[in-house]
Amino acid sequence: MQFSMSTMGDGKPAPDRDIIILGTGPAGLAAAVYAARAERKPLVLAGADPGGQVALTDTIENFPGFPDGVKGMDLFSLFQKQAEKFGAQVDFSSATAVDLAARPFRITADSGEYRTRALIVATGASPRRLGIPGEDALRGKGVSYCATCDGAFFRGKNVMVVGGGDSALEEGIFLTRYASQVTIIHRRNEFRAGKLLRQRADQNPKIRFLLETVVEEIRGTDGVQGLAVRNVSTAKAEVLPAEGVFIFIGHDPTTSLFRGKLDLDEKGYLRVDERMRTSVPGVFAAGEAADPTFRQIATSAGMGVAAAISAERWLAENGM
Ligand code: NAP
Repeated sequence: MQFSMSTMGDGKPAPDRDIIILGTGPAGLAAAVYAARAERKPLVLAGADPGGQVALTDTIENFPGFPDGVKGMDLFSLFQKQAEKFGAQVDFSSATAVDLAARPFRITADSGEYRTRALIVATGASPRRLGIPGEDALRGKGVSYCATCDGAFFRGKNVMVVGGGDSALEEGIFLTRYASQVTIIHRRNEFRAGKLLRQRADQNPKIRFLLETVVEEIRGTDGVQGLAVRNVSTAKAEVLPAEGVFIFIGHDPTTSLFRGKLDLDEKGYLRVDERMRTSVPGVFAAGEAADPTFRQIATSAGMGVAAAISAERWLAENGM
């Protein structure tokens, strides 16, 4: 690949960076706070969804330090402000290619080409799709993956939620602010979601459950009109009228940029050791891109901190 270095407006090449961080979720921005306080002046490339999943969440109740909860967008702003206060530079662009065989590493982004001695990958995860007919065609026309973003369009409407984890229940409860009825469709008769959320959903008069049921098709032309579903124990199939469907069936790590360049596990998560080191020396990873297990805001932030400390030590050990 032909590589040209970024320029600084005056035509001079941009200086090599010590640390570039990909992603502005809790992992990326926590790493930025630590890398900035180590005086490494990190550049943070925000990615396609600045703030990651945090910015798409209405209220966060389980991030330590906020006993009354905090709006997702506010938490993202606080993370960013803190990182910038210590000298991190947040650039609202996305990396489109990485060359990890070169030293310094080369990053191609919408905003230019960069070189960095150490790299922290905190690219997060994106919503999983059902992969059924109608899902793509009706996306944005009644099919959504974000209650905070789209809930208000469904005022007084009959809405379906697919999934049985914390997200499905939490977002289903949130949607009752707007929708006249929310039906949570789950493929098993036991929920993956925690007890507290199950209790809250049970007590909400607008929520009903449809268990042991899979969605086979989303129907409609200009908007969602119904869901073709099937009960997995009786095999009974029916079409349920619906004006919207929110899909919360988990996330897949956003790691396609690193396929063939860094070790990934069978589900696409970046493999890291206890020091957040990836398979390439000088490349570290943190947050949901590298965490198939916990995937919490606080654990992602903790991984980001660990990755920044490791990156700083690696630079120092290598005389950089
Ligand atoms: P999750 O825990 O992985 O749950 C995904 C749900 O979707 C499961 O119930 C799963 O069914 C179902 N599912 C997966 N693929 C499906 C498919 N193809 N068709 C139909 N159903 C499918 O994901 P999540 O709810 O997004 O939560 C992710 C992480 O964030 C978890 O660690 C969770 O604790 C955390 N989280 C926490 C909170 C909170 O604490 N307030 C809020 C949101 C998320 P099965 O159960 O049958 O596998």
